Amino acid sequence: MRGSVRAPRSSASRKAIISLTPGTLSLLLQAHRCRCPRHRRSAFIYSRATPMAAWAARPLRSIHLFKDFLLCPALLRAVEELGYTEPTPIQIQAIPVVLEGRDLLAAAQTGTGKTAAFALPLLQRLQAHPQTQRAPRVLVLVPTRELAAQVSDAFRVLARHLPVRGALVFGGVSPKPQIQALSAGVDLVIATPGRLLDHLQARVIDLSHIETLVLDEADRMLDMGFIRAIRRIIAALPKKRQNLMFSATLPEEIRTLARTWLVNPAVIDVAPRNAPAELVDHRVYHVDTSGKHPLLARLIIDGGIRQSLVFTRTKHGANRLAERLEKDGLSVAAIHGNKSQGARTRALEDFKQGRIRVLVATDIAARGLDISELPHVVNFELPHVPEDYVHRIGRTGRAGSSGEAISLVSRDERDRLRAIEKLLGRAIPVAA
Ligand code: AMP
Repeated sequence: MRGSVRAPRSSASRKAIISLTPGTLSLLLQAHRCRCPRHRRSAFIYSRATPMAAWAARPLRSIHLFKDFLLCPALLRAVEELGYTEPTPIQIQAIPVVLEGRDLLAAAQTGTGKTAAFALPLLQRLQAHPQTQRAPRVLVLVPTRELAAQVSDAFRVLARHLPVRGALVFGGVSPKPQIQALSAGVDLVIATPGRLLDHLQARVIDLSHIETLVLDEADRMLDMGFIRAIRRIIAALPKKRQNLMFSATLPEEIRTLARTWLVNPAVIDVAPRNAPAELVDHRVYHVDTSGKHPLLARLIIDGGIRQSLVFTRTKHGANRLAERLEKDGLSVAAIHGNKSQGARTRALEDFKQGRIRVLVATDIAARGLDISELPHVVNFELPHVPEDYVHRIGRTGRAGSSGEAISLVSRDERDRLRAIEKLLGRAIPVAA
């Protein structure tokens, strides 16, 4: 293969080949290792044509199409079928780094396209270097079952034309099907830390062939107290591996862990695609605590809000609000940590299908939910942590559509509102 990147004759092309970075060379090598016959052919054509060197030496920022990453046709087809026309900023920056095999620390929220930013290059690497053994080679750790299911769905659709097999591992459900899936042999595992640790201790899973570890929503995993479980899982991985760490924010705690677990990582920080200022209309209603429920019911019913995701701070508060809205004649479901996995999945599916008009959720339950085209998010109570406001409204204004974030703020929440406004860098307009 190296022979095909021989210096061409013209001086312009020679200059181009001199500036070929290891990263770009790695992209080319990836392309040539692709198992798809069509891709082999196209890579061959690239290598023979004179513009190849100039093409290869283009700065990465000029990438504006998925095919510029030299992903194999099976992946490009899946991307096309999903209707992705161009890569998002996190994908433009992360895909080449992951393809290269480098460690990565990325600040990116849900809604930025971060899942495909790691799934696409990891699938490319898996299929480019097939192994005979069927021990998992990629491990994705996520904080919640919902996010695990979502990440797994993303992998499944992106890998639909590839012979890659994955297993989904999370608690709250019977371990048997997971054990069966793992014993059958898989290439990748998407897991929440607790249940994975159970499987590890029961020797159901062998993590000694992991090539890449992805820590998704690392900040939330810390918040949820998974640090010890993660440390124990990492101890079972090979020392030499690729590490990708995604986090909505990069507080000092995350940077410290990154220094421990990551080796010379590329650091990427992208503004959320659904940047609050751009796509979401924010409104605040100042209202007494006792007036929140009647106001919400009025906004939904009289304001003709077709569907809304409503956030409460506590599980108990979520249940109580759901009951009251139900009495108002609305179709409602609540999701929080005390609900069984089945109930949470059902509620989410009912909501996605439009059978439920209001979904009441706590922050942890709603973390990472992928609900497209959701026009309204309501903060029935403001979150304790200002960053959670951004996570919450990340459910609306997705994929370029506009959304509305309504906050019902009582007197005792004014400090929280100020902290949120400070984070956003602007005041939120008060509704008349
Ligand atoms: P994520 O940030 O991974 O949760 O992705 C948020 C949503 O964006 C998901 O519904 C993805 O299917 C979608 N998405 C990811 N990449 C793209 C893209 N390049 N173009 C359009 N939508 C995308």
